[in-house]
Amino acid sequence: MQVRASNHPTSPEEFQRQLAEFMRNQFQNEPAPAGTEPSGQGESQRRKTTADDFAFQHKPQDVKAYLDRYVIKQDEAKKVLSVALCDHYHHVRLAFEGKATPNYTKQNIILVGPTGVGKTYLIRSIADLIGVPFVKGDATKFSETGYVGGDVEDLVRDLVRKADGDVARAQYGIIYIDEIDKIAAASTMNGRDVSGRGVQTNLLKLMEETEVPVRAPHDIAGQIQAMMEMTRGKKGPSIINTKHILFIVSGAFDGLEKIVRRRVREAVIGFAAKGRGAEDDEAMLEHVQTKDFIEFGFEPEFIGRLPVRVVCRQLNTDDLFHILKTSEGSIIKQYEQDFAAYGIEAMFQDDGLKRIAELAAEEQTGARGLMTVSERVLRPLKFELPSTAVRRFVVTRELVESPEKELKKLIAEHKTDETSVARRLVDDFARRFEQEHGFTLRFSEEAAALLVAGALAAGQPVRDFCAAKFKDYQFGLKLIAQNTGQKEFTIGPDAVGAPDQVLSQWVVASYREEAQKR
Ligand code: ADP
Repeated sequence: MQVRASNHPTSPEEFQRQLAEFMRNQFQNEPAPAGTEPSGQGESQRRKTTADDFAFQHKPQDVKAYLDRYVIKQDEAKKVLSVALCDHYHHVRLAFEGKATPNYTKQNIILVGPTGVGKTYLIRSIADLIGVPFVKGDATKFSETGYVGGDVEDLVRDLVRKADGDVARAQYGIIYIDEIDKIAAASTMNGRDVSGRGVQTNLLKLMEETEVPVRAPHDIAGQIQAMMEMTRGKKGPSIINTKHILFIVSGAFDGLEKIVRRRVREAVIGFAAKGRGAEDDEAMLEHVQTKDFIEFGFEPEFIGRLPVRVVCRQLNTDDLFHILKTSEGSIIKQYEQDFAAYGIEAMFQDDGLKRIAELAAEEQTGARGLMTVSERVLRPLKFELPSTAVRRFVVTRELVESPEKELKKLIAEHKTDETSVARRLVDDFARRFEQEHGFTLRFSEEAAALLVAGALAAGQPVRDFCAAKFKDYQFGLKLIAQNTGQKEFTIGPDAVGAPDQVLSQWVVASYREEAQKR
């Protein structure tokens, strides 16, 4: 920091400015604290918390319907989470209005399930929907470092960072801690007993109610800033109360199913026990109770603070296929964008998606395998295609099986293939239009050929070309549907030539038809 030589002592404002500049230079590339990762969208706008933020209107079914758009399967988990989250934020609203029940038990949640099946994705999506800050930490990070308490509290401070410094909003955020099973005290063989229990105790304090200083004692820059603010008489909140922070912990809990199975068996001895023994491990977990978690190695007080239990299921090949094909967060969209940046249109065909799903299932990392496989398959294409004349390609089963071979073919044959790929992209446009707006567009062969020729001549991606042509169709078709109930429309060459004119003729006709009915 350069302090100018001056006869006058530096004013607090000037010192603050210089200090801020110094800190900006020092810390602008500061990495996120250990054990945390950034949340999704929705948290960057700076605004202050008001009572309106807690005018919580969602019903469990709305929350579930929202989750259904992104998260495939996990139906039971979605239901339990929707109810728990609604209860929690209804309670928060009442607390905000000073009307909360005094002995309310917070709906903290344990999520049990293997890796990559959507546990984090569920919670992140809910946080986005509700608009509260969200942080994710990893319990193993706490037990491995010496300064246990500080790390756990850092998660709370991180919520403030995610809430753009708005302490009030941070106090209603969600803290998600993964790999919680690794701090079970039963894992003494790993030498984690002491620290595991230590972390449990520290977490327990946070889950109940405690006050965490906004500035960490080990954060020197923060301390200096706090001092500066004090000398300037500026007083922001200096503590974060954890009373309304929702805690969600998760883990794979390997071996928990055996504990549950044993207990269930013992309980049914002498009764009709048939059938129970045949339940698979996942089904067994649905019967998990507090005592099973205690046997697994958790302190009773700790587990007692986590009343909501949710089990997420392993994803099979079919689920993985649906994630690619129908989830709004599908990685396919990302790949399409990556290629589109080079003016290349990628089209994923069902048999290609199925093969990616099959290979991903072999990885045994849930939906994470989809990314691994897609990267492996598409990387050579991403590297080569932008420097070739190929402007569109289809991801087929063959391409997924042998990307290098198909890539060579693609480069050698692209001219002959161009029109047929473009033709299929027209159908793909129709499919997406239906998914998004609920109307079926049937292109006549002649109309499709015109669209293909138009896009190729204009050097434009086919989907974009179609989208521009029929950009107002969803509005017009909605009017028609209201009048006549019609949901399917045949697009002929006239509509390709003069889309708006044809649409308005249809709309007018539908009003006439409606009037005649009356
Ligand atoms: P974990 O269960 O280990 O927390 P994540 O939720 O982080 O797994 O999943 C990793 C990624 O895989 C998510 O970001 C999402 O893209 C995808 N994914 C996982 N499960 C699903 C699912 N059930 N539906 C849709 N996408 C999923």
